[in-house]
Amino acid sequence: MSTRSEKKAYEGRSITVTFEAARCRHAAECVRGLPEVFDTARRPWIRPDGAEAGRLAEVVRRCPSGALQYERVDGGEETAGRPA
Ligand code: SF4
Repeated sequence: MSTRSEKKAYEGRSITVTFEAARCRHAAECVRGLPEVFDTARRPWIRPDGAEAGRLAEVVRRCPSGALQYERVDGGEETAGRPA
């Protein structure tokens, strides 16, 4: 079974983070940015409730490969480039 385009979802209370392993370039922006959420030594390695959703969204946007994405599920402010 191929896992190339597999996308995994990590659901938190106010934000869902998805991770596409095939796109990850292991730049570790995520782990450095928010170690309380991203910890590759842990399973699951992404714990979306480990930080405030806004901060988590910010770190996800910094992922250089696009492997990480997020979706706010709390109806909270959608900060991703929407005009005010
Ligand atoms: S920031 Fe993106 S590319 Fe870098 S390790 Fe995390 S998921 Fe992979």
